[in-house]
Formats: sequence, structure tokens, C-alpha cells
Amino acid sequence: MKDSANEYAAMRKITADIIYPVSSEPLKDGVVLMDDEGHILDVLPSRDGVGDLEKVDGVLVPGFINAHCHLELSYLKGKISEGTGLDGFIRDLEKQRGAYSDEQRLFDAILAEKEMRNAGIVGVGDIMNTLLTVPVKRSSDLSWFSFLEVYGFSEKRIDEIWHKGVLDFMHMRTFRSPEKLMPCTLVPHAPYSVSEKLFEKMSNSSAYQNAIGCIHLAESDEEVEFLLHGTGKIADRLHDFGIDQSDWTPPGIRPLQFVLPKMMMRSKALFVHNTVLNAADFEWLAAQPEEMRNKVHFCFCPGANLFIEKRLPDFKLFLNAGYPLMLGTDSLASNIHLSILEEMKLVTAAVPTLDTQTALEWACLNPARFFGWDNALGSIEKGKKPGLNLLSGLDANQRITESTTVDRIA
Ligand SMILES: [Zn+2]
Repeated sequence: MKDSANEYAAMRKITADIIYPVSSEPLKDGVVLMDDEGHILDVLPSRDGVGDLEKVDGVLVPGFINAHCHLELSYLKGKISEGTGLDGFIRDLEKQRGAYSDEQRLFDAILAEKEMRNAGIVGVGDIMNTLLTVPVKRSSDLSWFSFLEVYGFSEKRIDEIWHKGVLDFMHMRTFRSPEKLMPCTLVPHAPYSVSEKLFEKMSNSSAYQNAIGCIHLAESDEEVEFLLHGTGKIADRLHDFGIDQSDWTPPGIRPLQFVLPKMMMRSKALFVHNTVLNAADFEWLAAQPEEMRNKVHFCFCPGANLFIEKRLPDFKLFLNAGYPLMLGTDSLASNIHLSILEEMKLVTAAVPTLDTQTALEWACLNPARFFGWDNALGSIEKGKKPGLNLLSGLDANQRITESTTVDRIA
């Protein structure tokens, strides 16, 4: 009987120092059988008896998924000051928005899509405030899940904001075609930028029930202060921007406690940043009903956290709690590159006990499951087309280091 390595005529038989399928244990002597289009035909645990091997030096891993990006903000690369805190960042962002033409923004989004592709990224969870990047996504061979983001604080403008969001959502749906699905949903920006009425509109709209959800969460101490007391830099900023806060009553609870109940109509929820979540938040979460805890997924953007706030989440709290974790780059407004490998380097440096297998679960399989792409992406398994990345420059224990590089080989 033929072994499976010899059943296929046109295929690559790739072996490396180590192969990380991610869905199973790393293979020291394994072989990936792949057709010319990148479909995985099989993963063999041993090279024994397999001819015509293509040996690559390094570590073979699946394509990465960037769980949080804002492609449309790519034009702000290098334009925003570092380390000014979230308040300084948002004020800077508001000054810069509108100073560039659509053509310039689109051009920079095209470059950013190429940058991600070259960095071994095969799928992106992308926040949109406009439909500017639709043409980039339609011609991209990456998988995209688009979150059309709404925010608004002044009760008087809620209907107008809501209608624009719904209209953009309907527009996105018209861009769908059998060849190029463009899955999308409408999501709130952050607990401090969405009024109770706007949250309610989203909860009551059947179009977004059972859709996956996403929100920026617990990104700064300012956010906590605003939710607890209605004071601090966020209140000052809203005042400076002329936004009416008279309808706002601070809920008097921390960000996760405030937002999670609002996500119950979603099939699952992705909380992005989580920089200031603490042990008490996790104690509260552990005491919640299972149907609530099952919604919870966390995405870290360490590069952006360092850029904006000069601090990182307490990763150990999350590792101990056991919720699905993933990584995002955020935008080029708050990061110097769009690379999941660079985010893995920051996490690995911050958590010396984090092994490469776990880091790859964050970078590949967990987000693939979250976005519903795990039939094709997220792991090197028979029947998938996950993209193949070759990592070089790991240390003797196969941990990612500052000098690790990535080459996309399929
Ligand atoms: Zn973001």
C-alpha cells in the first residue's frame, strides 16, 4: 500500500527543524504535505521513507491572524506622538483626521495590507469607521472580518449616528458576492464613548443579535475613573469637544462589569486592550453565570499599549483565568508596524514562561475559531489552507526572541 506522502503527484513535502501544527503537539521530525495552492494534504509525524523532501531551516507555523486592526487609519503612521496617554492620543488623532485626502488614505491602506501579508498574516479583524477600505479588502487574498464601529455620546445625535451605522452596514452587505464574502457587523467603540441609548439600539436590533461582538475595553485608568465617577480626562475631553454629558450618569462600576452584560445578545465578544483589568475583575468574572463567561475572549495589542500608555496588561492574570486569548496590532496610528510576530515578541519578553506553542495559539488558532475561520485557517491540519510561515532566529529552547524573523512560504 502506498503511504500518503506518495499518493499525490504535484505537491510539496516540507520539513523543518520543528513544525508547530498548533492544534497538536510540535513535531521534531514531521513533514507537511501541501498542494500547489497551499492546501494541507497531510501532516506526517516522521520523515522516514518520504522522498523529495524540501528542507527549510527554522520553525514552520501557520499563517497569523491579526485580531484587531484599523486598516483605514494606516495613513497616520508616524503622525501621532508616542507616550502621551490615551487622552493625548485621542486629541492628536482628532487633530490629524481630515487632514489627508481619500486618495492618500487609500494608498496607505494598500501599503498596510501588503505589509501584513508580508508579515505572514492571513486574516484580519478590522475596525471601520468609514467604507474607505472596502476596495482594498475586496482585492486582498487575506480573510477579513469587518467591525463597523459606532460611537456617540450626546443623546441628541444618537439617531443620526445609528442611521449612518446601519446604512454603512447595509452598504457592506451589498459588497458581498459569492467569490468574496465580506462578513461584518456593527459594534460599539468603547464603554466611555457610547451612550446608554446607543448601546440599547444595538441590543434591540435583531441584525446584530447572535453576531460576534467587539469593543475596546479597559484601556486606561481614565476609562475606569470616568465609569466610576464621571470625572477625569475623558470628562474634560468631552467638554472640550463640546459634547453634551448632561444625560450621562456614571454607572459606578468598572469597564468589564459595565460592558459584559451588554454583550449578552452577541454570540461571543472580543474585548480589546484590557490593559487595566485587575484581579478583582477576574474574581467578578469567575462568579458570573457560565453563559456570560462563555462569551468572553480577550485580545491584546501590546505594541499599541506601549506606544500610547507605556504599559502592558497583566498577562499572568489572563493566563490563569483560561479565556481564549489573541493578539492584534491596532492601527499604524499607534504602532510602528502591523506584525503579529512583533506583538508575540513583546508578550514573550514580558512573560518569560510563555512557550511558543501558547503564543501561537494566541496568534493563530484562537482567533481563527473566534472569527469562524478554523475550517481553513489557524492550524496546520489536513484539509486546511492556513498559510505557512517560516520563523528563524529562535533561541535554543525554541522561544521567540528579539531577532526572530518571519518569511511567508505559502
Ligand atoms: Zn483599536
